[in-house]
Amino acid sequence: MMKLVILGSGTSVPHPRRSSSAHWLETDTGSLLLDISAAAVHRMAQENLDWVNLDAIWISHFHLDHVGGLAPFLFGTKHAPQTQARRKPLTIFGPRGTEKLLGAFDRAGKYGLFKQPFPIEVREVAPRTSCDVPGGLRAETFSTPHTRESLAIRLTNEHGGGSGTSFVYTSDTGHTHSLAAFARDADLFMMECSFWRSKPVATHLELTDAMNLAQDSGARRVVLAHLYPEWDGVDIAAEAKKLWDGDTIEARDGLRLEIGD
Ligand SMILES: [Zn+2]
Ligand SMILES: [Zn+2]
Repeated sequence: MMKLVILGSGTSVPHPRRSSSAHWLETDTGSLLLDISAAAVHRMAQENLDWVNLDAIWISHFHLDHVGGLAPFLFGTKHAPQTQARRKPLTIFGPRGTEKLLGAFDRAGKYGLFKQPFPIEVREVAPRTSCDVPGGLRAETFSTPHTRESLAIRLTNEHGGGSGTSFVYTSDTGHTHSLAAFARDADLFMMECSFWRSKPVATHLELTDAMNLAQDSGARRVVLAHLYPEWDGVDIAAEAKKLWDGDTIEARDGLRLEIGD
């Protein structure tokens, strides 16, 4: 069983109810933060999540509404009383260039972010590869049409063979049919759905794109996140139902979901 807490259902645009991208995922054996916006640093505490013992951070791409909290979080863990006794490592997974980006932040202010009370490790992952991540999960990656480095992730809880419970997080992406294959039969498929209709750019999804991927993937449930303010006042689940008969959930800050049985 995986538990998901939506910390930020919004975008880079300041919004009173939707902070920018961050999603907390945990199993019985570990925790993983999927993207770390500037807001995420305090949203974890607001939701009473055990940020002190966070095992890993996943960076999908380098837009600041997804990575802007990384250096501030490490600045916090370096100095917070709560983390001084921590010894277990924190792993930062991200696309190629993650270490360089964090290093640039670090050097800009001589913060010493890599010197923590506990070990930190940066693990850069390529598209179409897989690796083990904390929480007993297997991660697979997929290059999305958004930025050069942007990656979607598929997390599977293997628990002793079988197909396992799976969760797919697209983060920001344009539309491509191969994403449906990547998310095949996922128990929960969390997609960005930046726009309702007439999207202004090809590098994000609008509702018809998302519902097309939902249909083709065969996913059991869908969550739509990364919602621009143009969605304000729209009944997202009802609009989704007109295009796909499955179960679509609107992401909201603070929403908690269980994945698997
Ligand atoms: Zn974004
Ligand atoms: Zn982006």
